[in-house]
Amino acid sequence: MKVKLRKAGPNELKNPPQSMSGVVFGTQFSDHMFSMEWEDGKGWHNAEIKPYGPLLMEPSSIVLHYAQMAFEGLKAYRTDSGENVLFRPRENFKRMNNTSQRMCLPDLNIEEVLDALKQLLRLESSWVPNESGTTLYIRPTIVATEEAIGLKVSSKYLFFIILSPVGPYYPQGFNPVKIMVSDKYVRAVPGGVGYAKTGGNYAASILAEKEAKKLGYTQVLWLDAVERRFIEEVGAMNIFFVINDEIVTPQLTGSILPGITRMSVLELGKYWGLEVSERRIPIDEILAGLKDGSVTEVFGAGTAAVISPVGVLSYKEEEYYVGNGKTGTVATRFYDHLTGIQYGKEPDPFGWVESI
Ligand SMILES: *Cc1c(COP(=O)(O)O)cnc(C)c1O
Repeated sequence: MKVKLRKAGPNELKNPPQSMSGVVFGTQFSDHMFSMEWEDGKGWHNAEIKPYGPLLMEPSSIVLHYAQMAFEGLKAYRTDSGENVLFRPRENFKRMNNTSQRMCLPDLNIEEVLDALKQLLRLESSWVPNESGTTLYIRPTIVATEEAIGLKVSSKYLFFIILSPVGPYYPQGFNPVKIMVSDKYVRAVPGGVGYAKTGGNYAASILAEKEAKKLGYTQVLWLDAVERRFIEEVGAMNIFFVINDEIVTPQLTGSILPGITRMSVLELGKYWGLEVSERRIPIDEILAGLKDGSVTEVFGAGTAAVISPVGVLSYKEEEYYVGNGKTGTVATRFYDHLTGIQYGKEPDPFGWVESI
């Protein structure tokens, strides 16, 4: 794929933030973006790296009405030796193709799009922040752009990648959060789009998160939509439990997003010789286990926070405390090791880190 380069002029260039402290997640964007278009009969074309800026799109574009779209989230890391690297980026583009299949969007050629991303990142290398724990967040997105408000599969698409420098997720330290189990709303249903990273899933979840925040909880833990009994996942993270020294996470049933951090925790746990399992987990089992002490840790896993320890679960207006309220040893071990691999401080036995 030939990528055209249109560089921002000297007056268009912004300066990367001097310090990442105080930068709110996802509010600053680098100087350039990648984009390409797709049309029936023509495939992907017009690949270019150009100055970051507004899109020209008709108000009748299909995505603005029916949310036919897919997105991804990954990061570039500055290692201790000063090199910029990616973490398992092919997995993100594979997952994007899985989302696209469900949403009737065109497939990406994974190697070509990864190559285009690397070209963009080389141009924007000064935007990868180098303070400890900071990253350059990468947001690939595909949207349906045909002008038609009759419901149909679009015949035109726009794919773009934008880059956003982000500060450390834990500026105040690696402390447990309080989450609320939702028994009122559900996120995804069997046969639906829960496994897809597509906008509608998040639009459907914001009311529950808004209500949870009002009550003092940072996120919602979702239950299955049929019985409201089996644990699914947190807002933008998968969930893990340590039960009698075994690491347990809900199995992928189609309504759970298959996280790459989730997959990495499972693979790393097995590599260390720990007991790990994927199965259906009734909420009652966890609440009873928190009371009798057999559930010792609860933590979320996702690209943004890597690992997010949970200190309190609220269910039907009752609060259940996890351990002694401090971050557990298993969560800490995964956090230290995964971030260690990402920043080049730990050996990478699986070849997860990819040079740019
Ligand atoms: C992105 C996401 C995750 C985490 O996936 P990672 O690949 O680990 O970042 C989990 N759940 C939901 C709903 C998500 O959108």
